Amino acid sequence: MTTRCPACGSEDVTFSVVEKTFSVPFGKPVTCMLDRAACQRCDATGDFAKTNDAKIEAAIEESEKSALAELLSRMGEFAQSAYVERVLGLPARTIARWKTGHASAAATALLRFIVTYPWLLEVAENRFAPREADRHVVRAFRDAFERLHWSEPDAPTVVSATGTAGSAPTSAACAGQVTVVLSTSAQTTSSVTVYAEPAVGQAA
Ligand SMILES: [Zn+2]
Repeated sequence: MTTRCPACGSEDVTFSVVEKTFSVPFGKPVTCMLDRAACQRCDATGDFAKTNDAKIEAAIEESEKSALAELLSRMGEFAQSAYVERVLGLPARTIARWKTGHASAAATALLRFIVTYPWLLEVAENRFAPREADRHVVRAFRDAFERLHWSEPDAPTVVSATGTAGSAPTSAACAGQVTVVLSTSAQTTSSVTVYAEPAVGQAA
């Protein structure tokens, strides 16, 4: 089959191959070889034969497939399928079906959020009650605060993190507080106080 230049109609077209890698979040990178046509008469370049779209689609699909397996594996480390199905109101065996590769794009997107923020399942378990949800956010912030990017050169370092028992003044529902003192390379020191929430379910 002769490939013509879409710009000038010339058949004087040469082909080269370009290696491209595609990946979706949590998926493995998948490399494919894309065709690059070049018209020798008018300098137009591109995918004249329209062969690349299918290759790109296949590469992304393969990466999505590996992402689904990875997400299910990671979620399995902290939550059982029956629990997830119950708190999210999913029909029984839904996750078993996902494990066979039959998951919608929406299901995969949901898994990405759950794996990134596992406490979202507890928010769901508490029927998305706003106050309970807020407590999870505060606790997640406190946890993330100590994990986050502290290894970067200019990042603040945690000098001390102390917990204080007793009621915090701002809310009777608070069981204590955590003060994190930060120090940066510029010698400035700041502290952030995070009021720790009581365990979910113990709130007044
Ligand atoms: Zn041309």
